[in-house]
Amino acid sequence: MNNNRQYPKTPKEKRVYGSFFQCPFCRVSYTPDQFDVLESSARGVLYVVECLKCHHTLFGSFFFTDEGMSSIGMLTDFTKEDILKFRHKAPISADELLLLYEQWQKVK
Ligand SMILES: [Zn+2]
Repeated sequence: MNNNRQYPKTPKEKRVYGSFFQCPFCRVSYTPDQFDVLESSARGVLYVVECLKCHHTLFGSFFFTDEGMSSIGMLTDFTKEDILKFRHKAPISADELLLLYEQWQKVK
């Protein structure tokens, strides 16, 4: 992110950016330098930010469309390093889940 700009600056920016710049779990405000941009293109930004208080990580993205901007985020216990490690891995299949369930049943 641009570190030369202080967010939020105006009352309108505080309303607009408030939900993006605040931890959804403990409500501590993020600072711009806490955001790490993982990918950026003309279509949007994929970012991760870790809360310094509760240590939850928000993994999210902004999408730019013809109609405007949209965002989606997920609060997780993953660290930034976990996200970088697992984000390009193949999804877990139903067969793998069933195999794991069977293994757990044997341990009981
Ligand atoms: Zn927090």
